[in-house]
Amino acid sequence: MDEAWLRARSALEEEGWDFSAFDRPLAWPFEPRAVGVGKVRGTLFGVAVGDALGAPNEGEPRWKLRERRLERLAPHNGLPAGAVTDDTQLTLALMESLLARGTLDPEDLVRRFVALAPSLVAAGWATRQALERLARGAAWWLAGSASAGNGAAMRAAPVGLLLEGPDAQRRAALLQAIVTHRDRTAAAAAVANALVVGWLVRGGPPSVAMLEWAADALDGFEVSLAGRSQRRRASTVAARLREVAAFEGGLDEAFEHFGTGAFVLESLPSALLVFMRHAVEPERALLEAAHAGGDTDTIASLVGGWLGAYLGDRGLRSGTPSNWWDVSVAAEIERLSRPGLRL
Ligand SMILES: [Mg+2]
Repeated sequence: MDEAWLRARSALEEEGWDFSAFDRPLAWPFEPRAVGVGKVRGTLFGVAVGDALGAPNEGEPRWKLRERRLERLAPHNGLPAGAVTDDTQLTLALMESLLARGTLDPEDLVRRFVALAPSLVAAGWATRQALERLARGAAWWLAGSASAGNGAAMRAAPVGLLLEGPDAQRRAALLQAIVTHRDRTAAAAAVANALVVGWLVRGGPPSVAMLEWAADALDGFEVSLAGRSQRRRASTVAARLREVAAFEGGLDEAFEHFGTGAFVLESLPSALLVFMRHAVEPERALLEAAHAGGDTDTIASLVGGWLGAYLGDRGLRSGTPSNWWDVSVAAEIERLSRPGLRL
């Protein structure tokens, strides 16, 4: 990963990206536990279950979903109930690449993403356009779209599962992000997701301290996107993490305040708030996320990943209806959740 990191960093520094945040040492502020297979399986199933549950509601406004509650997996995008979308497909491709290469190797990752492109379900424009450029031979450190969509963040969980230290997770999350999203906000959000997963699977509690620690890990890296958000009160992922930590209102207020769109400064904080409010009530958390409105598959997929990272597969399974686990990628997840996984 070191060579890839230096290549990406020098190319992006030439364009004014400030990497001083990445030079500050980062450590778990607690004694990390070894990541057991139950945490890996729980995280990956959480990603898939949330995705499949939220997908039929994607793009619907919240008010409409109040009248059309969906409490089981349902068909969507011309696919049967339990089918997953790009969120899970890309997450599993990243997992496969990390396991095959033993590190974050952007070239291997890009080959897998490009091979997957024709079968991606409901992928966003930033990912599609980047994969077209990559398929035509563009360099991985140049091909990513200038987009602050949530496509790079939503697939970052395996980085938190498989890389041991938070410093390595921060670099790997950025590298996997820029191949499709060459944007500081998109990359910062991917780092945030990886660090939250990494924290939770190693026994860290879902706490204000977790959000503030992740925000500190990003301080100074982002450039304000005030002009690009409809909601201008906070304009970086780091600021959004601190807002979630301090937010006192309920979910209705949160979705109104942060927004629920595919713009990552909306869906990431809204998902985090659902998780922070209902971390020990996984069924409730996933239903709230799947009915948030807007980018419901990604919001529910993010929430599912964190629930699984925190509760493990047993905790998640015992707290959710068993028929939610009939996701299309169940066998693949079982295969990828081998005991003793380490990079
Ligand atoms: Mg999706």
